[in-house]
Amino acid sequence: CGIVGIIGTEFSIKELVDDLQKLEYRGYDSAGIAFYKDGSIVVQKATGKISNLRDQITNFNTSVGIAHTRWATHGAPTDENAHPHTDCTGKIAIVHNGIIENYAEIKEELKRKGHKFKSETDTEVIAHLIEENFEGDLYKAVLKSVKMLKGAYAIVVMHSDMKDTLVAARKGSPLVLGRAENKVILASDVTPIIKYTKDVVFLEDGDVALLKNGEYKITDVNGNIVLRKVYHIDWDE
Ligand code: GLU
Repeated sequence: CGIVGIIGTEFSIKELVDDLQKLEYRGYDSAGIAFYKDGSIVVQKATGKISNLRDQITNFNTSVGIAHTRWATHGAPTDENAHPHTDCTGKIAIVHNGIIENYAEIKEELKRKGHKFKSETDTEVIAHLIEENFEGDLYKAVLKSVKMLKGAYAIVVMHSDMKDTLVAARKGSPLVLGRAENKVILASDVTPIIKYTKDVVFLEDGDVALLKNGEYKITDVNGNIVLRKVYHIDWDE
């Protein structure tokens, strides 16, 4: 259970997987990435070690991507249950660490509204919930959605129509943010971040972060700005 999200100047998806590999110690039964390519989101997943994913991908340069190493809590460790998960349209992709306690209720409600699910995970309901709450603004859709979730989460979300934007939120699972000169990086701990920057922000429970055009803002779930200290990490990679 580890997350990486990168947005900014072009980077290779192999690099994204290398960064993810630094979190493999947190647990792995499968891994996956989603990245922006020509107006769409491409998702690639593999069960087993992160090196399996690495062997499978064809390298590509992108400007926004998310990555996940999974330690299954809901649903077997299969390709379908591996993250990232997408909504019905395939425009929204999400990675998640933690457990959504009320996922079954939300899933039933969303099924009634016509959503079709592809996995057995608690995570996939978040993708569909964001789709349901989406009215053109991903950040607002995430605010509305996380208010409906019970349990623990660190999430990073992307949308294929917004290649300049990543949205993250945390409650009960760690998430760290670092802004480098031309990139903003999110990760479950500082290890994937320090090669980009040693100045990091530890998101706190209830924080939602909007990463846009190389800048970030952190708010509470109601959209009020919160100020978080920037820590300087004093160790090398
Ligand atoms: N509960 C989610 C799942 O089973 C996330 C697990 C994790 O934190 O890796 O897919």
